[in-house]
Amino acid sequence: MVKRFDGREYNELRKINIKLNVVDNAKGSAIFSFGDTVALAAVYGPKPSKMSLDYDKAFLRVRYNMLTFSTPERKKPTPGRREIELSEVIKRALEPALLLEEIPGSIVDIYIEILNADAGTRTASINAASLALSLAGIPMKDLVVGLAVGKIGEKIVVDLNKEEEDYDSEKLKKDPEKSKYIEYYGEGRATDIPVAIIPSEKKFTLIQLDGEISNKELNDALNLALEKSLEIKNLMKSNILKHLSSSGNFIY
Ligand code: UDP
Repeated sequence: MVKRFDGREYNELRKINIKLNVVDNAKGSAIFSFGDTVALAAVYGPKPSKMSLDYDKAFLRVRYNMLTFSTPERKKPTPGRREIELSEVIKRALEPALLLEEIPGSIVDIYIEILNADAGTRTASINAASLALSLAGIPMKDLVVGLAVGKIGEKIVVDLNKEEEDYDSEKLKKDPEKSKYIEYYGEGRATDIPVAIIPSEKKFTLIQLDGEISNKELNDALNLALEKSLEIKNLMKSNILKHLSSSGNFIY
């Protein structure tokens, strides 16, 4: 039976890979991958703010960057509009989970590098940053989980890869090898919905939508995202606990 391009079920995530504290001089760091999409986040701080100490909460700075060799076509090394916007999007997705008022007068820097991109880099970045923040000891009420859901043709799916993001049944009809996938996805194009969730509160801190979708389908997609966010959070949490216990820092 035909399934997704890469053989997954509609509700199946790509293979998740997590590596913790990979950058020696960072306070906390992590690599998070969804299949071939690999994000590295490094957290520095909290350090005293040189600007003004009378803030009632810490100041969060996020820089998202895609490395030149992370995409099939070489990416320009200078940050473009997309990277500036994504830095802000990721910052806003993370901030509601952070207790920045507990470290007033300080700055927390998050540097994110995309090592390889196959769609979903902002959501992989949110997960890498969340892990790095927790390892850096930045006060937070929960991990923030990023993932994409969407509609491909007529099918609601989780964690779209680039080939799925580019889906167009009209183009596929002209491709003898790929046209069989229309049987699975149906007619139409793709709608990508990257989201971020605070799982313990079932709260969305990011919802973006690129494409078209009905209210019912959007509801189904967001429910699928909530369900899958728990799976990702459990994996993130078990990796943190394993890491802390193996590095002798386990206090529980
Ligand atoms: N992409 C690319 N070059 C670029 C920007 C994006 O090849 O300059 C690819 C990359 O695989 C990325 C995907 O397009 O993951 C989707 O990009 P989008 O802006 O939708 O963000 P993302 O899904 O990565 O969060």
